[in-house]
Amino acid sequence: MRGHRPLRIVKITRRSLLQSLWIAASGMCTAGLAGFRSAVAQGRVPKAPAQYQDHPKGDQHCSRCINFVAPSSCRIVEGEISPDGWCQFFAARSSG
Ligand code: SF4
Repeated sequence: MRGHRPLRIVKITRRSLLQSLWIAASGMCTAGLAGFRSAVAQGRVPKAPAQYQDHPKGDQHCSRCINFVAPSSCRIVEGEISPDGWCQFFAARSSG
């Protein structure tokens, strides 16, 4: 069929994710960039670039995400994380 392009699957690694965020943050102000560098150096992304919110997005929330570490932490986003929160890196746990 014309106009249809094959689906391209891209594997996102934690390193490539952090590199992309680092590039995106390059336009941030100096103070914000310093905080971002510190967080990236610790291996985590600040809440703002992750678009973190302390409430769910639909049926997506941190306690259902593969990156959530109970009771209130995340492998990707820095700081205290609510089990009811959400960010753009949400990845659902498999239900099995
Ligand atoms: S939704 Fe975002 S903040 Fe919440 S656990 Fe997943 S990656 Fe971390």
